[in-house]
Amino acid sequence: MGIDTKTKNSGVDNYGRTIDYLRIAITDRCNYRCVYCMPASGVPDKQHNRILSFEQIERIVRVASEFGIKHLRLTGGEPLVRKGCTELAGMLSAIPGIEDIAITTNGALLRRDAKALIENGVSRVNVSLDTLDPEIFHTITRIGSLDDVLDGINAALEAGFKTVKINTVAVRALHQDFFSLARLSVEKPLHVRFIEYMPIGDDDTRSKGIPEESNPFFKDVSTWSASDTIPSDELRELISREAINHGCGPLLPASSSRPDGYGPADYWKFENSKGTVGFISAMSNHFCSQCNRLRLTSDGCLRPCLFSDQEIPLRQALEDNDDEAIRAAFRQALRQKPDAHHTNDGTQRFMSQIGG
Ligand code: SAM
Ligand code: SF4
Repeated sequence: MGIDTKTKNSGVDNYGRTIDYLRIAITDRCNYRCVYCMPASGVPDKQHNRILSFEQIERIVRVASEFGIKHLRLTGGEPLVRKGCTELAGMLSAIPGIEDIAITTNGALLRRDAKALIENGVSRVNVSLDTLDPEIFHTITRIGSLDDVLDGINAALEAGFKTVKINTVAVRALHQDFFSLARLSVEKPLHVRFIEYMPIGDDDTRSKGIPEESNPFFKDVSTWSASDTIPSDELRELISREAINHGCGPLLPASSSRPDGYGPADYWKFENSKGTVGFISAMSNHFCSQCNRLRLTSDGCLRPCLFSDQEIPLRQALEDNDDEAIRAAFRQALRQKPDAHHTNDGTQRFMSQIGG
């Protein structure tokens, strides 16, 4: 007899927040090596062998749905480098209770996969893009080509996703042209969101990730710190000022044209623009009281908070085919979800293993 999930499993945490969103890092591999996310050599091989199979992810999501998880996001690493990512989306969208699947991608393979993603139930896509300058793009990603990503964004718009968002990590040390990125929202229905840089990973981990001895665009990443985070308010004012100088500003509150989604961005827009400009202030303005998510790492740990290394491993439960142990892990994750994050906690993981 199945368990009475309604009475036994609640998706409400200790602080009364409803947790209905699971971010799943389906791989820790990536075809890029963004300087703020991953070491130049990629993630150590030992860890690759431990990534969850599709069947294991499906099993976890079935249990998650008993706890009221309705919204999923596939992330990584780069989710589209994992063979069969679109089929995985199809498997997950067939699970009763799952209402919505989104994906976060670097966009390099979106031209190839956009249509198949939609056919398999993915309705929303976020593409990461930090600059429109091809050389700086290559320096940040260490490998990538800007043209591939711009083509991927166009492919996503053509394929007909419900929303296409651009995620830009704003880092003082990078000297990005934020206004040019924000302006992408004028002509096309793109929602460009600026994310405050999070200096996560301990100093040792981050400095090991820096191979470039010298580079012409920005200071060595190992020296980046909290002061390289640009608070959203400062960034919004900067973009608004530049927009006025270019004759398309200022930014106006966009509460009525917020794009679909389950995240904490604050949305603005230029007059008559097709899209919006959003700001995600994970560092300067904690939105922990509205946090609605859990994370599943690529190697099978439930992570209650991005900023804390507290994790609940699911591997043993999966190896034992023990759904009751997976349920217990979800209950523990909900119990342990902190009321607020403490950015000084740091984390031993690379962002690519947690999924952002
Ligand atoms: N590969 C995909 C991509 O780049 O979109 C998905 C994984 S990536 C880890 C998810 C998001 O985390 C991306 O938007 C990326 O820019 C962001 N990210 C990575 N490291 C970050 C950091 N240190 N601070 C803020 N955002 C970061
Ligand atoms: Fe790869 Fe995304 Fe990390 Fe860049 S941010 S290295 S694309 S996982």
